[in-house]
Amino acid sequence: MAGLFDGTALERPVTCEVCGRSRDACSCPRDAAGRVCRPRDQVARIALERRRGHEVTVVRGLDPVATDLRALVRSMRTTCSTGGTVTADGLELQGDHRGPVAAALRSAGFGVKGG
Ligand SMILES: [Zn+2]
Repeated sequence: MAGLFDGTALERPVTCEVCGRSRDACSCPRDAAGRVCRPRDQVARIALERRRGHEVTVVRGLDPVATDLRALVRSMRTTCSTGGTVTADGLELQGDHRGPVAAALRSAGFGVKGG
């Protein structure tokens, strides 16, 4: 639908469908397609997996464009006092931290499955 408002932007400013601000002033998180994608629009899937014999808590399902995964994993490393990193499809923390990770995601507004 790109180009829908071509030529009409000056007469009809495009506003955000969620916050009502102009798109320039809007700071709603958006996915790669430009759709608003807030934490509550996303469902994190938490799982416990093994990497080379060690347990890791894996979080998938978050939108990597709309979500600051680096900031998220940073705060979870602090919360869980463990190492963690952003992965190709989400993030992972060393050890079994499913409970605290689920709580942190819920308090940030995300939907959560598993954990
Ligand atoms: Zn907005």
